[in-house]
Amino acid sequence: MSLQHPGPALPTPACDVIVVGAGRGTRFGGVKQYEDLAGQPIIRRTLQAFTRHPGIRRVVPVIHPDDSAIFAAAAKELDIAAPVIGGATRQESTRNGLEALADAPPALVLIHDAARPHVPAAVIDRVIAGLVHADGVVPVVAVSDTLKRVDDTGRVIETVPRTGLARAQTPQGFKYAAIINAHRTAAGRDLTDDGAVFEYAGGHVMTVAGDDAIIKVTTRDDFRKLTELMTETRIGQGFDAHRFTAGDAVTLCGVRVPHDQGLLGHSDADVALHAATDAILGAIGAGDIGLHFPPSNPEYKGAPSERFLRRAMELLHKRDGTLVNLDITIICERPKIGPHRDAMVAAVARIADVTPDRVSVKATTTEGMGFTGRAEGIAAQVVATVRVVPG
Ligand code: MG
Repeated sequence: MSLQHPGPALPTPACDVIVVGAGRGTRFGGVKQYEDLAGQPIIRRTLQAFTRHPGIRRVVPVIHPDDSAIFAAAAKELDIAAPVIGGATRQESTRNGLEALADAPPALVLIHDAARPHVPAAVIDRVIAGLVHADGVVPVVAVSDTLKRVDDTGRVIETVPRTGLARAQTPQGFKYAAIINAHRTAAGRDLTDDGAVFEYAGGHVMTVAGDDAIIKVTTRDDFRKLTELMTETRIGQGFDAHRFTAGDAVTLCGVRVPHDQGLLGHSDADVALHAATDAILGAIGAGDIGLHFPPSNPEYKGAPSERFLRRAMELLHKRDGTLVNLDITIICERPKIGPHRDAMVAAVARIADVTPDRVSVKATTTEGMGFTGRAEGIAAQVVATVRVVPG
């Protein structure tokens, strides 16, 4: 039976996506789609949801004419088409994007809001799959709260039955020829989504399951939720010890502390910053301090250790990561750490470029036991917590 043999794969219809980010939503003091979300502009994260999806051919951004420079920086090195300039309304902007595809028209087109950076691939799959049987597909989620119609004074006029109601999200998908015609028909209407444009022009729209995680960034609370959804917390730990040698001061957490001995080391022997560097490197799986700064390299002789911590922070930022906190414990009998604690917290915060509330410096003795107890040297232990985007 021929049915037992898989036939030749059906050709996949070309599917492009328009990412509409031409709005002027300035709630946060800047245009919201360029706000930094866990280390990257929101619009970059949105574009990447589609550049990483194997079902998408071209990703076409639509931007505001004033945003060319900021967009170029945000989208640096992404595999996307040249940005299209938007119009006065979302509907006009989308139409500009659709017209720009006419040179090599796709069979299918998805239209997505730039301010929705978290797009599960499964939703993109469902919208594309829905277009096998429908000309227009909108992802929706259930309305779970009771709905009230409210007048200008705040008085409830009526409770709106939520039966049969759903919240529309994006990406919305269409047969390209049908949606561009619908947009030409509905020109000048200022409709708020493309499903509405399609309906206005007489098209039929089907729904597929959306996802509550497709949050449109509007408030600070949306930011917090998205950051949690799109990042994970990681923990790293670091340990270091250096022995005493002749000298008149030790450097701990970047602060010079007068003492009757110094610490022996290739650099300035700042055990606390070395352990902090290793803790951050550990959290992102980036090796250890010796890998990045080989002691055999004469360049690091006597070097201030803050460059090590700065380098670890650079690597963390390259991973789109942020430092949540550093918890530093210095282990020694002497010198006394307490009088220098505040200066140490301030120094580490400055070097790592975080607020001081993200840095803790503690000290302990080992009650005369072991190498620190015998005052042979100083040790430090550090735990670092970071947030990074997985994968
Ligand atoms: Mg060391």
